[in-house]
Amino acid sequence: MRFDKLKHLVQHLKQTLPCTHCDKKFLYKNIKVIITTEDEGIFSLECSKCGYVTMANAGIHPDRKHNSVISKRDVNEMEDFLESFNGDFKQLFKSSNPKK
Ligand SMILES: [Zn+2]
Repeated sequence: MRFDKLKHLVQHLKQTLPCTHCDKKFLYKNIKVIITTEDEGIFSLECSKCGYVTMANAGIHPDRKHNSVISKRDVNEMEDFLESFNGDFKQLFKSSNPKK
């Protein structure tokens, strides 16, 4: 992802997503990038007040929701998935995205 897009996403997260535990706004220094693709990224936001960590997925693709909070369940599911994933991305994209 280009830096200006990434900056835009981080700004958006900061403005729209408060701590899911105590509702305090995040500061830029609380927001960490975990991974990005061309159009979206996964961020970890650590609350400076209560220390609660919120995972969020944000994207700039026009036909998807701009950002969403990733629940602990999603993280667990992702971990389970990665543990069982055999590394065959070609097969994965074929089965999860039939349009492409
Ligand atoms: Zn908090």
